Amino acid sequence: MGLKTKKEYIESLRALHPTAYMFGERLTDIVDNPRIRAGIEATGATYEIAELDEYRDLVVTMSPLINEPVNRFTLPPSSIEDLVARVKVNRKLGNFVGTCHQRCTGLDCLSTLSIVTYDIDRKHQTGYHSRFTEFLKYVQKNDLSANAAVTDVKGDRSLGPSDQDDRDMYLRVVEKRDDGIVVRGAKAHQTGSLSCHEIIVLPTRALGKADKEYAVAFAVPSDAEGLIHVVGRSTLDMRELDGCDIGNTLYSKYCPTVIFNDVFVPWERVFMCGETEFAQEMVVKFSSLHRQSHGGCKSGKIDCMIGAALTLMDYNGTAKVSHHKQKIIDMIHRAETLYACCLAASYEGSKQPSGSYYIDTVLANASKLHEGKEVAEAIRLMVDISGGFVADLPSDRDFANPEVGPLLRKYLKAVDGHSVEDRMKMYRLVEKMALESADTISDIHGGGSPEAHRVTIYRETDLPSKKRAAKRLAGIDK
Ligand SMILES: Cc1cc2nc3c(=O)[nH]c(=O)nc-3n(C[C@H](O)[C@H](O)[C@H](O)COP(=O)(O)OP(=O)(O)OC[C@H]3O[C@@H](n4cnc5c(N)ncnc54)[C@H](O)[C@@H]3O)c2cc1C
Repeated sequence: MGLKTKKEYIESLRALHPTAYMFGERLTDIVDNPRIRAGIEATGATYEIAELDEYRDLVVTMSPLINEPVNRFTLPPSSIEDLVARVKVNRKLGNFVGTCHQRCTGLDCLSTLSIVTYDIDRKHQTGYHSRFTEFLKYVQKNDLSANAAVTDVKGDRSLGPSDQDDRDMYLRVVEKRDDGIVVRGAKAHQTGSLSCHEIIVLPTRALGKADKEYAVAFAVPSDAEGLIHVVGRSTLDMRELDGCDIGNTLYSKYCPTVIFNDVFVPWERVFMCGETEFAQEMVVKFSSLHRQSHGGCKSGKIDCMIGAALTLMDYNGTAKVSHHKQKIIDMIHRAETLYACCLAASYEGSKQPSGSYYIDTVLANASKLHEGKEVAEAIRLMVDISGGFVADLPSDRDFANPEVGPLLRKYLKAVDGHSVEDRMKMYRLVEKMALESADTISDIHGGGSPEAHRVTIYRETDLPSKKRAAKRLAGIDK
């Protein structure tokens, strides 16, 4: 009980036995599979930095709920300071792992449920908030990681959940029993689901009255009976299995499709069941919190990209080239504006009826919209500075080959004093940060597609006040 070390976290995953497939085969050694392990290591970093003097004060805080020190990834914010800390921790971690650490989505679910379960209870006199609070105590006391299972597979996008030919295209309740519910469906793009102890399910969209069976939120262990994780392909994934040309030698990211093949959920783990009018609040709160989380960790990843570009400038002999310096400035500018935007969303946050704090929705969505374009631009600048070997560097195995290796070493040398090996390693890291689809595509679609950010910005902005300001200046009375 209490804070877990990274070692204890990894050992605790060994006690779970999830059903998982990858490349058509059932996975038996999940924790030691190199592809999954690289993702587990990334989530493990959230435990590791809680042990390091440099980060401990930022990551570990007292939980008012259990009155014990907890990792911030189990703590729904209860002050502006907590909202700000979310961003700072994510930036440090993004910089530490150079990819996605995969633990923020669980916190975003916990934070959402800490607000919305209370709101549902107020209207319907249900008991969701106390159930959720018990679950939260369990998560905090055991320092658990959770995954956010939000994105349904959705079938025909022009149809709502109840209008689909196959009603399982959105996860739904197929049976209600005295002791709980049975759910069926599939959630796509489940970041790090096998690196987690718990899977937290929320609805993926606003729902109408006809969609009652889809209005469900709950938590199940990641190895619950009937749950099947199918690990998706990502560019460069075979390199991790192959143990060669990996790029980021420590961490990676994977996203399974998770199938709920009639999974039983006991009532004490059900946090919404049938209250369709609260689905929208759940989705907006979760996705906005998640969009804010992204801004922190992606500004941290840009920090790594800046470091890689600067190092290659040293290795290649372009450290004094003025357009490279300009491009570094442009990268820094992107990291800092992204960071500033999600920090602003925190400082403009507010207390909710449940006592939890919530960020400013418009600023959080503006931050994510900015991320979708500007991280891609930062990647372009990093690749521009680095040069063409990001695309087609010979393999480590060619360098190790006795015939061609010495020739490659001769021809791929650049500035004296920097080894060819170090230069190659840095190119590989740049390739990974630029082209690892499981991470880079999340800049665009993670937390919802860009249009969802736009719609939220338009809906949540106080447009009448802007019109009033313009009319006042123009001398128009009403
Ligand atoms: C790397 C990565 C990690 C992710 N991690 C997670 C995770 O951990 N948990 C989780 O739950 N989700 C996760 N997601 C899922 C993410 O939230 C979704 O990808 C996103 O919401 C888009 O959904 P979709 O992929 O089904 O695309 P679609 O919804 O099909 O969207 C594709 C395009 O079609 C448009 N579109 C679709 N339907 C309509 C419509 N009815 N009207 C108008 N336009 C429409 C969209 O705006 C977009 O332009 C992740 C995604 C990625 C890429």
